[in-house]
Amino acid sequence: MNRILTIVGARPQFVKAAAVSRSLKQHGIEEILVHTGQHYDANMSEIFFEEMEIPKPAYSLDIHGLNHGAMTGRMLEGIESILLNEKPEALMVFGDTNSTLAGALAASKLHIPVVHVEAGLRSFNRQMPEEINRILTDRISDILFCPTDIAVQNLENEGFRNFPVQLVKSGDVMLDAALFYAKKAAAKSTIIEDLGLNEFVLATIHRQENTDDVQKLRQLIEGLNEITRKTPVVLPLHPRTRAILQQNGIALQCRTIDPVGYFDMIRLLQHCQLVVTDSGGVQKEAFFFGKQCITLREQTEWTELVAGGFNTLVGTDKALLMAAFEEAKTNHPDFSINLYGNGQASDIIADTISKA
Ligand code: UDP
Repeated sequence: MNRILTIVGARPQFVKAAAVSRSLKQHGIEEILVHTGQHYDANMSEIFFEEMEIPKPAYSLDIHGLNHGAMTGRMLEGIESILLNEKPEALMVFGDTNSTLAGALAASKLHIPVVHVEAGLRSFNRQMPEEINRILTDRISDILFCPTDIAVQNLENEGFRNFPVQLVKSGDVMLDAALFYAKKAAAKSTIIEDLGLNEFVLATIHRQENTDDVQKLRQLIEGLNEITRKTPVVLPLHPRTRAILQQNGIALQCRTIDPVGYFDMIRLLQHCQLVVTDSGGVQKEAFFFGKQCITLREQTEWTELVAGGFNTLVGTDKALLMAAFEEAKTNHPDFSINLYGNGQASDIIADTISKA
């Protein structure tokens, strides 16, 4: 295949697309990029396209701020008409957002092969909208690129070896991005100096299961407020979390900053003492940069990090959070283990697509 249409819409997809788009280009594959608009603030979208030199989207659908059904439905309609117009040889989607599911569904109904990057991940928690998006997208995909052995295993357990699909363990494209952009970040980002940071904990919170339950969110913030009294917490605040905190008058004592671009994020990851997050991608990036992670969720799809002692799941329990924070000071896991490939996942993906 040498002409594909790619769907992006949310911040983690820009990071993944940056790595894969570069490899597609090197393999001579034409890519038509569609931005659904799920994330649209300049610091959640535009900055990634600029810094990471992601090709400009050929189409921008501007769909955001809706409930899951309405958002996914409008994306489905918009993507279908683009597919009818462009007639690509395949459609590529990343990860587990509504944009992922809408793209996969639109293409599969038109008999256009679906390529899923970051396939096979499972948290086994169907309360998470992302879990529904993952399961359904995998099931209607034709080429499934798995980042880890466990992702391959999950698909095998669901019977995917019996389906006429291609399962490929590619490694993780976020590692490709982290390795590629670390040099540029070192040259361009001055965030550590600008904020005068010394020892600090890097935190992010945006998962719907945490932000939409005010009780949980309150507990999480209390936990972060307690940590910040021991080691300053720096929290680039997702717009959804910021809005909910404001609406409910929840006071933060840690240092909040606006969401940062990828270069600043890399330097924050490189320089922090510890990561506390409910993000999927940031859990892995903590590992890439040799940092322990405390995850503010009950489950993770990146179970190899927990098994290896790199990541501790604490949910929203403040006592568990504080215990994990203290434990991280004396725990020194060996980060040299290879869990996510060697930074060549995007090349494997582009090569496979070019031969399909
Ligand atoms: N990220 C960023 N700036 C921030 C917060 C996150 O560049 O202020 C990056 C992060 O390094 C990772 C991606 O955004 O590459 C993860 O996105 P997010 O946490 O929104 O989504 P998830 O991975 O949970 O789906």
